[in-house]
Amino acid sequence: MDSKLPGIGTTIFTRMSALAAECGAINLSQGYPDFEAPEELREALARAVMDGHNQYAPMSGLPALREQLALQLQLHRGVACDPETEITVVPGATEGIFCSIMASVRAGDEVLVMDPSYDSYIPAIEMAGGKAVRIALRAHSFAVDWDAVAATLNPRSRMIIINSPHNPTGAVLSEDDMHTLERLAIEYDLLVCSDEVYEHLTYDDLPHRSVLQYPGLRERSFAHFSFGKTFSVTGWKTGYCVAAPALSAELRKVHQFVAFVAVTPVQQAVADFLADYPEYPARLAGFYQRKRDLFCDALAGSNFRLRPSAGTYFQLLDYSDISTATDQQLAEQWTRELGVASIPISVFYPSPPGLHYLRFCFAKNDATLEQAAEILCGI
Ligand code: PMP
Ligand code: GLN
Repeated sequence: MDSKLPGIGTTIFTRMSALAAECGAINLSQGYPDFEAPEELREALARAVMDGHNQYAPMSGLPALREQLALQLQLHRGVACDPETEITVVPGATEGIFCSIMASVRAGDEVLVMDPSYDSYIPAIEMAGGKAVRIALRAHSFAVDWDAVAATLNPRSRMIIINSPHNPTGAVLSEDDMHTLERLAIEYDLLVCSDEVYEHLTYDDLPHRSVLQYPGLRERSFAHFSFGKTFSVTGWKTGYCVAAPALSAELRKVHQFVAFVAVTPVQQAVADFLADYPEYPARLAGFYQRKRDLFCDALAGSNFRLRPSAGTYFQLLDYSDISTATDQQLAEQWTRELGVASIPISVFYPSPPGLHYLRFCFAKNDATLEQAAEILCGI
């Protein structure tokens, strides 16, 4: 068949995980935990299945789950929201993000994206007929260049996509960033697609700032969250989108014909788990900060340069003192020859930016991280 999407290949995550499996390498590439989710959550899923929660849920999600999610937003962010009209449960944040873009972007609309950008954004914008306007984050700090953002805004600008904590760099938006975003979004009447799937993973007492906490952003944003990250169950593919009623209504028009609903027993299980353990997500930052520190400390004597990740479960390593090869070459070479797989970040730019970073996932057992660090220290 004559491809409708000739520019789209297989994702880097699929490719690197496949290569890691082929080579028997330690897989620090694709982001997923190699340890189990809480037993109580897994038991809740088994119970949900055995108790008969196996047919379609309401299109926007099980009411019991949306109630719990509204409580979570109040508890962790101090944000009030109406579960009926403002929360939509989706089969993964990827679907939620896709639906929010499909629901908003018309042919010719411009959508601002910061590079390195998560791989699902650009195809979604293009499938909607929009034009992605790509702006690089500042080299090394990976802070947003708001002057560059402001310079590209114009009457065709429809949406801006932000992601904090940021995959793949681990950067976290500051209070100043949020105020600048709010000012520009109001001035240019932008919608905001805010990818907050790593909301609970910020370190060194840095707070996560949600668009939902800023009045000017609250009314014009789709905020996306994922149970995969929060509960260490990436394979459950369930998340939710929070948006003002008018935006949620538009999102649901698309969602009901892309997936229609998210998986029922998973929704019941998360609702039951959150009712019993509402504080569980707040414990994640400490848990992952310890893993980040273990990995970074173990690399202290290596030839990599690093700045400890501020958020997400990814750590960038700067290999510029080791090699002049491209990150794509090195990611492949080190998977094959050294047995440690990582993600090259240049694939998240329109063309390689000439940076020398690889991304390593530290959502792994301590022994795995120690073993990987030992190999990396030998380079
Ligand atoms: N956004 C970012 C930045 C991610 O890293 C991920 C992780 N896969 C997603 C969205 C998608 O999450 P989900 O698995 O819930 O679709
Ligand atoms: N979000 C995961 C990562 O960044 C990958 C998800 C996927 O494979 N699509 O590694």
